[in-house]
Amino acid sequence: MVILPKPNCTDGELNEITTLLETLGYSVHISKGVERTVIGAVGAPDADKAAAIQRLEALPQVDRVVPVLKPYKLVSRDFQPNNTVVRVGSVCFGDGSLSIMAGPCTVETPEQLLSTARAVKDAGAHVLRGGAYKPSTSPYGFQGLGEEGLRLLSEAREETGMPVITEVMDPRDVELVSAHADILQIGARSMTNFSLLKEVGAARRPVMLKRGMSSTIEEWLHAAEYLATHGNTEILLCERGIRTFETATRNTFDVNAIPVVQSLSHLPVVADPSHGTGRRALVAPVARAAVAAGADSVMVEVHPDPSSALKDGAQALTFADFRRLVPELRAVAAALGRPMAISD
Ligand code: PEP
Ligand code: MN
Repeated sequence: MVILPKPNCTDGELNEITTLLETLGYSVHISKGVERTVIGAVGAPDADKAAAIQRLEALPQVDRVVPVLKPYKLVSRDFQPNNTVVRVGSVCFGDGSLSIMAGPCTVETPEQLLSTARAVKDAGAHVLRGGAYKPSTSPYGFQGLGEEGLRLLSEAREETGMPVITEVMDPRDVELVSAHADILQIGARSMTNFSLLKEVGAARRPVMLKRGMSSTIEEWLHAAEYLATHGNTEILLCERGIRTFETATRNTFDVNAIPVVQSLSHLPVVADPSHGTGRRALVAPVARAAVAAGADSVMVEVHPDPSSALKDGAQALTFADFRRLVPELRAVAAALGRPMAISD
């Protein structure tokens, strides 16, 4: 449930509410917004809820108690009406600005990564992406450089100053990947790996949770709730396309999901039109649509020579494609009164 204290409620009065909630068996999450403070409470048995609401409403400093009916609580907008802003270095997600994350699907060589990092940074990217641990549908497919790839990402950050996002697939790798990454990525295939969600939930690193390719929005928010209940509330939700009957594209990018999620949750939303379409020529138009629909950030794959890419070459933008895309996205955002994110 969500408790709305009266405006001008003192810290002492807030503590009184918190103490009562804890006595009743709830765990308490306080969100101090510009307008008002909101107290979220989860965890006590449903059977005791009516009595708890009565006791809370009897407190003079309580304005209203709102039961959160959604099955996911901490990530729901009922629970926290204000947008969560996730800060990564000087880049903010969820504050109204538009950020761009770009880089190769997979870290292949030092030259490939560094040349891409420099090119996307010069063109206006805010965050560098690159996979060191790659999910591969075929066991014979390339599965990434592993720790060596992480070291190359760290070097690219040193040189360019851009924060780095990379995927973690195995709960046993969370500590190692966190030592190199500014944002941990949970891939579409791992969205329902609950052991991984719990481990990343305990990590002190922002996380980008991709939507599973056959997951509903509600299942996706449940996965985010796993992260939040384990302590990590710095969550970005990434729409990356879903499986449909359509075969013209690799996936069907669900543009609806952007405003739907923003109405249901306070978490920032990232759009990935690269995996969402699987085709280079479609990446820019779908990226523009995602920004128009309200995405907080766009992630795209870029490669120095897509024809030789070890993975996802068909959807990789060239450096020139990316240089053309950034001003287009800036223009769409500006038309909606949104600035670009700041980067160092
Ligand atoms: C990726 O970002 O390269 C990736 C593997 O994405 P997804 O998990 O969305 O397939
Ligand atoms: Mn990829």
